[in-house]
Amino acid sequence: MQEIINYFSSIPSSHRASILAGGIALFWVIESAIPFIKFKYNKWQHAGINIFFTLTTIIINFCLAFILLKSAQWTVDNQFGILNWLPKMNLWLFAIIGLLLLDLIGAYLAHLVEHKVKFLWRFHLIHHSDTWIDTTSGNRHHPGESVIRFVFTTIGVLAVGSPMWMVFLYQTLSVVATQFTHANIILPKKLDNFISYFLVSPDMHKVHHHYVLPYTDSNYGNIFSIWDRIFGTFKTLDRSKLIYGVDTHMKPEEHNNLKNLLSIPFQKLRSPEN
Ligand SMILES: [Zn+2]
Ligand SMILES: [Zn+2]
Repeated sequence: MQEIINYFSSIPSSHRASILAGGIALFWVIESAIPFIKFKYNKWQHAGINIFFTLTTIIINFCLAFILLKSAQWTVDNQFGILNWLPKMNLWLFAIIGLLLLDLIGAYLAHLVEHKVKFLWRFHLIHHSDTWIDTTSGNRHHPGESVIRFVFTTIGVLAVGSPMWMVFLYQTLSVVATQFTHANIILPKKLDNFISYFLVSPDMHKVHHHYVLPYTDSNYGNIFSIWDRIFGTFKTLDRSKLIYGVDTHMKPEEHNNLKNLLSIPFQKLRSPEN
């Protein structure tokens, strides 16, 4: 555990970039060889849009990283946050509890609020507008959403009182988990079911991308599935019934056009059809 802590305390940016690029490359190869759905789309053009949004997310997080570093250091210096208020414990247990709480506050709660607050949904909608979910969809976030998520991550770090190595570890796991749950692949149904008791499985997150309510407003989990199960937001839908996208924005000229995607948050908000 100490080695993991040492590594993530000072993980080089180049390693973080390699993990992100390596993950996309790995899942790209797998989903090209054995795709779950045979989309009729231009994979490279689609990837171009999603990788643009991945790059803006990286730039925003890079520019704001100092706030996260300062927040994590402040909690450690002042013994602030849930982890610091708990009794001393084994390092593994400390890491697991910390990762679970970061996942709850910085990801699950953030995601749920993005669905419930109309102003935030305007930005998160861009992630949902993708009708061809593949591994590149994982980081399709409007720059405005990247900022919103950063704010929630910072709140999470302060509330949890997590040291920086834990934040870097969480973010690294999150990148790979997101690429995995969005990849255009399927696991044997029993295996997917089994995974979904503790981690977000590919089927579980795909239900979140079904184009109509109430499925869009379910399965908010990022890495761990337990929050959806505890808070009653877990839903299943037969794989054969899945249609990706969001009912208000199903036209390719809208969801497959970078300029339009960037401007969606500033357009008139549309109501769901049902
Ligand atoms: Zn969502
Ligand atoms: Zn998603």
